[in-house]
Amino acid sequence: MPTPTFGFSGSLFVVAAPSGAGKSTLVNALLAQEPGIKLSISTTTRPPRPGEQDGREYHFTTAADFVERAGRGEFLEWAEVHGNYYGTSRLMVEKEMKAGTDILLEIDWQGARQVRKQFPQAAGIFILPPSIAALAERLNKRGQDEPHIIERRLLAAGGEIAHAPEFEYVIINEEFNVALSEMSAIVRATRSRFAQQAARNASLFAQLGIHAQQS
Ligand code: 5GP
Repeated sequence: MPTPTFGFSGSLFVVAAPSGAGKSTLVNALLAQEPGIKLSISTTTRPPRPGEQDGREYHFTTAADFVERAGRGEFLEWAEVHGNYYGTSRLMVEKEMKAGTDILLEIDWQGARQVRKQFPQAAGIFILPPSIAALAERLNKRGQDEPHIIERRLLAAGGEIAHAPEFEYVIINEEFNVALSEMSAIVRATRSRFAQQAARNASLFAQLGIHAQQS
């Protein structure tokens, strides 16, 4: 059964990209200028990278714990990516969206598919690098992963990019500031959708006698 969309006044943004497209930098800049959006902290079985903190970048856990929680239905979506499990907390997303907070999920295409089934109104944004060469360069520069992991991520990038057509919006991250202003425009347009405005401004809509159209 899909989760009923009625009653969620927050918007849901799903951002996907191949590793190295600059997704996290863009998302962090967007969050800094749009305080109404909360980033969902995923749970993963991947080991922390240097500098990463449990509960900040991810909730880090073991495969056994992850599988058990997935079995209990705790994840709104989950997937195996680059040999590790990643999942989004259903409770957190639903609670925040009911309270009117906008939520942004930084997930892969498999997770995006699962979210779209449950929240068809989610705004899907895919970030592309300006070229394959730029992608490889960014992955190497990051220098946080072992060479064999970088190789695996480059191979996987092609697989991720093949799913770009499943997303409503595409941003080409060539000029950072241009890409950021495009993300911001998508956020504002999504917030102005009828359903979102009606949910956030229920008493105004009632006063003005505006009712949702029956389909
Ligand atoms: P990284 O290990 O580089 O942080 O993330 C690897 C990939 O896993 C990225 O494509 C990222 O978007 C994806 N990912 C992170 N969290 C989740 C999640 O909760 N669900 C899914 N499906 N993918 C995720």
